[in-house]
Amino acid sequence: MAGELDGRVAVVTGGRRGIGRGIAERFRDEGAKVAVLDREVEPIDGVLSIAADITDETQVLAAFAQIGEELGTPWALVNSAGIGPAVPFLELGVDAWREMLAVNLEGTFLCAREAARAMVAGGAGGRIVNIGSQIGLKGGVELAHYAASKAGVHGFTRAIARELAPSGINVNAIAPGPIDTEMLMGMPDDWLAAKQAELPLGRFGRVEEIVPTALLLVSPVGGAYITGAVMNLSGGDVMAD
Ligand code: NDP
Repeated sequence: MAGELDGRVAVVTGGRRGIGRGIAERFRDEGAKVAVLDREVEPIDGVLSIAADITDETQVLAAFAQIGEELGTPWALVNSAGIGPAVPFLELGVDAWREMLAVNLEGTFLCAREAARAMVAGGAGGRIVNIGSQIGLKGGVELAHYAASKAGVHGFTRAIARELAPSGINVNAIAPGPIDTEMLMGMPDDWLAAKQAELPLGRFGRVEEIVPTALLLVSPVGGAYITGAVMNLSGGDVMAD
């Protein structure tokens, strides 16, 4: 049976684990030629795994050059690599602030720019999906630096969605609520308990509940008329127009 992404090239940052891993495996199962960029190489069946720190421009350029040579022009990029350690605001140092912005925002920019350059040169359009966060929409205690980075991702998404639309490249963000991954489980216990208590659905989300939206957004037909959207997949944590 033909897959939704048969023969198309898809790049997933942070695809070694968590949300990115779920998306990479699903895209592969839908027939895509998938490359995963992560700080460490993790062998994943049928996937090209590349070690790259997305905050390092030289490494990002080299990774996209390798993808072009080995797989071809990317059709889709999902920017899922991110970090999220909580720090009380009064203790938040400049180094922690800069590291958060470097990974979550600057890394997203660098990978999106390289993917877009290749897509524009290829002339066949494409899809970019940035993983934002509901924290970027509503804020979060001890997460000032994270909220700033993710609100930045949402604004960045809308800006390049406008700029890349004439090239047939659709750009969207997914803003998940708390999803059961290593990142979430790294949060303090009292933070997790408070967060769970305020969720209308009463539980954390699962990776497999994010993956179908990522697939929709990169789908050649299903995603064709969606651009500049920040998709709210938060278990009701955020309810707004
Ligand atoms: P995980 O921590 O499980 O996975 C993140 C992956 O990104 C890891 O493999 C990590 O590698 C990689 N990564 C981190 N920094 C870099 C870097 N500089 N270069 C390359 N790879 C890097 O996180 P999740 O899957 O939970 O999160 C995925 C995305 O979803 C993130 O952007 C996150 O902010 C966002 N998100 C997550 C939510 C959640 O509740 N889980 C909620 C809302 C948004 P390493 O092991 O080396 O650090």
